Amino acid sequence: MNQKINLGIVGVGKIVRDQHLPSIKANAEFHLAATASRNASVEGVRAFIDIETMLQQSELDAVALCMPPQYRQAAAQLAIENGKHVLLEKPPGATVSEVEQLAELASKKGVSLYATWHSRHGAAVERVKALLAERQLKSVNLTWKEDVRKWHPGQEWIWQAGGLGVFDPGINGLSILTHCLGAPAYVARADLKFPANKAAPIAANLAFKTASGIELNAEMDWRVDGAEAWTIDFETEKGLVQIIDGGAGLIVDGKQLEVGDHSPYGEYEAIYARFAELIQAQQSDVDLTPLKLVADAFLLGNREIVSDFNH
Ligand code: NAP
Repeated sequence: MNQKINLGIVGVGKIVRDQHLPSIKANAEFHLAATASRNASVEGVRAFIDIETMLQQSELDAVALCMPPQYRQAAAQLAIENGKHVLLEKPPGATVSEVEQLAELASKKGVSLYATWHSRHGAAVERVKALLAERQLKSVNLTWKEDVRKWHPGQEWIWQAGGLGVFDPGINGLSILTHCLGAPAYVARADLKFPANKAAPIAANLAFKTASGIELNAEMDWRVDGAEAWTIDFETEKGLVQIIDGGAGLIVDGKQLEVGDHSPYGEYEAIYARFAELIQAQQSDVDLTPLKLVADAFLLGNREIVSDFNH
């Protein structure tokens, strides 16, 4: 690509500072031209309060939408209608239907829409997918347990309707699982625990099945005092394949394998490389499978009310 892609970021918060900014800096195809955020800005970059003003007053080719999911649809629709390529942070929206409509609109407008799943770019993920393609799967256990106070301090949106609660991290595990599985799975049972004072679950136990009868279980919990875990155990007829550290590590039959040297920004560097590729190829990449499983868990889930959660 001869000219750089002029990019605007909307919603300058934790993930923008931790991952998007260093990854954009490392990618020669992008130029961070503007931000739109009510309370934050990036040094040396034109700052606007909202996306409307940013689109009116700057010359952008693309936008990265990094605000909470409940506020993403309106911004995405506006950006697409203005002919911009759009990158959606995960989860791509608050509902399945809104993102499907965005994908249709992007196709009509001839712009690229990219629903990102950063965990799918974890260092071990493609190795696991390749290993599973050669083995017969017997069962799967996903464990996603982290301390919400440590990872989401003061984030109110995450507890509100559409914020997903414990599925905000849990959907990362599901994004890896659905990428590696090779067969579609459906939600067979869901038990969701809601704090009495919150609109989103603090824990979830899920059972999935595939058409061929493979059983998959997932346990997600934000009430963790001790060890945190982001693991997926794939029991195969040739032994155990384990993803650890949220996709960064791999254990096969009890032996940890080297998955290569990766920068701390590896997942997001891969996301921006893919976004540039999609723009150049005039394509979109919108896989809603992980979001559909979460939506079905809400649809089918038994709800148990547990103690209030206070930050
Ligand atoms: P965050 O720190 O709360 O930042 C989101 C930013 O969006 C806020 O700082 C806020 O900036 C802006 N915003 C716009 N409208 C908002 C509204 N109505 N309510 C609250 N904020 C609003 O959240 P985050 O952790 O960066 O997460 C953002 C998205 O990235 C989520 O979808 C999350 O799942 C995803 N993500 C997060 C992580 C992580 O480690 N934190 C990792 C991967 C993906 P202004 O107030 O300046 O407008």
